[in-house]
Order: sequence, then structure tokens, then C-alpha cells
Amino acid sequence: MRVGIPRALLYYKNEKFWPTFLENIGVEYIISPDTNKDILTKGSNLAIDESCLPKKIFLGHINWLIDKCDYILVPRVAFCYGFDMCSTFLAQYDFVKNTFKDRNIKILYYNIDNKKINCERKAIYRLGKFLKIKRSQVKYAYIMAKQAQMYYEMFRIQNQEKLLKESKKDKILLVAHAYNIADKYVGEPVIKYLQGLGCDVIFAEYTNPIEAIDASLKVTKTLHWGYSRHLFGAVELLKDSVDGIILLTTFPCGPDSMVNEMLIRTYKDKPLISITIDSQDGTAGVETRLESFVDIINLRKEKNYEK
Ligand code: SF4
Repeated sequence: MRVGIPRALLYYKNEKFWPTFLENIGVEYIISPDTNKDILTKGSNLAIDESCLPKKIFLGHINWLIDKCDYILVPRVAFCYGFDMCSTFLAQYDFVKNTFKDRNIKILYYNIDNKKINCERKAIYRLGKFLKIKRSQVKYAYIMAKQAQMYYEMFRIQNQEKLLKESKKDKILLVAHAYNIADKYVGEPVIKYLQGLGCDVIFAEYTNPIEAIDASLKVTKTLHWGYSRHLFGAVELLKDSVDGIILLTTFPCGPDSMVNEMLIRTYKDKPLISITIDSQDGTAGVETRLESFVDIINLRKEKNYEK
């Protein structure tokens, strides 16, 4: 049996977890390639117009995997860090099933929607049972997978903390979801361009989620999306350590449109821009805005120096 993993959306929260788990239960897997124009175009054609760009990209990756594996991994995740998830993650099993109803697609599925009854551990045990894997082996694979993911994230957080302490360059905080940062079509061109301008890019995503969520609670009690809360809290934690903030979002993201507005109103004293990437124009025209933004940061630094 071979399982397909779409390199989109939740993959970027489970980069080590999913492959390590499958390896340890003895199941072969294939991960779809980096997003390219063909994957994006096919995903956009499959999606309804209102879909956000990451959802279109996700459907393009599912489309790529069909015929290359027996099952495609599409979990349903309703909450994280004790908060709600955006509806895309609650509905992804259903919209994949409906979008590909004529293609006889087989989905490998687990459901996290309750802290006790359908927590991640229990959901994974059910998945193992479905695959007819011994419970002891599933338990071992789950522990190994959690460890692999935890070490990977810790390493990333520590590297970023070191960079923050040692960097003498302009430090730009990029506030973007994991699946947007890492995507070749969305985040990568922006990151490379900023680095080309001589900046160090600091990621809100690469902060300790528990600390970030705690920090977010000091600013807002009402924000209910877990991933958004992590990013919001990271801005609160890092605002004094960076020179400017970029809110990188994808069209038309409901949660980001609200959260970005809150961030703009809360952090008025910091140079801040909001950049939206869509499936039509991608990053075209973004370079000029990034260049102006870095110029503003440098002018501001010069003025502060003269004072
Ligand atoms: S948070 Fe926004 S970008 Fe992410 S899946 Fe939801 S609507 Fe799409």
C-alpha cells in the first residue's frame, strides 16, 4: 500500500510527523512535489471561485497524487492549541471527496475535533486500526513521530532565536501561515527578495506556540482561530526585536483579513505593510513594495540615529 501526502496546508504543520509515523508502521508514502504553475492552475480550475489560494494549491496537489498512490492522506482537524481552526481544515475531507467524486479517490482520514474523545492520539489509533496495524506498533510510531516533529520545530525556534540575537542586518518579521511561508509560489519569492535586499527574515510561525498564545491573550481575548492566535502572539513577543513587520496573506482569507486589521491597529508604531498574494498575479509587483518598505525602515533608522 502506498499513501500520498499533499505538500500543502497541514503538511507544513506535520512535515516530520506524517512521514515518521508512516515509516514506523511500515507504510510506503509519496509526497507531492513543490507547488508549480501546473499544480496551481489545475487546483484553481478544480476549486470554487471563493476558495482561498492555499485551498486551490491543496486541490492541485491532490490532483497530482491521484493515480500515484492507493490512499491520499486528508485529515479533518477542528481545533489546535485549544482553539478553533479555520473552516477549511474542518471541511477538507468533504471538499476533497466532493471535488473528486468522479475520480474514485480513496482518502486516508483521521478526525481531531474534541480534546478528549477525538484528540490527536485517539484519532491516530483509529487510523492505525483502519490500516490493520497492531496497537503497540501504532503507539511506538506515534511517539516517534511526535518526537521527530517536536525536535524539528525546536531546532527551528532555537536557530531563529540565535539569528535574532546575532544579526546586524535589518530584521523583518514575516507574519504568515506555515503553508504560505514554505510554498514555492507564495512565500518563497517574497523571502528570497527580502534576503536579496540584505534583510534577515524572522518568522512569526517559528516561535513557541504556547508562549505566543499566552502573549496573544494579553492583547485579545476574543480571537478564536488557533493558528491566527499563534501568529498574533508572536508579533507581541517579537515587536521590539524587529525593524518592521510584513503581513503576508493569500486571497481571499477570511481569518487573515480580520486578524491583519487588528494587527495594523494594535502595532501602529512599527513600520508595517500588508501584502496579499492571489492566484492570478502571484508575486508580480510585490518587489517594488518590498523595496520601498525596506527603504522606509532604513530612513527611520537614520533619523533615530541622528536624534
Ligand atoms: S486561514 Fe485563510 S488561508 Fe488559511 S486555509 Fe483558512 S481561509 Fe485559507
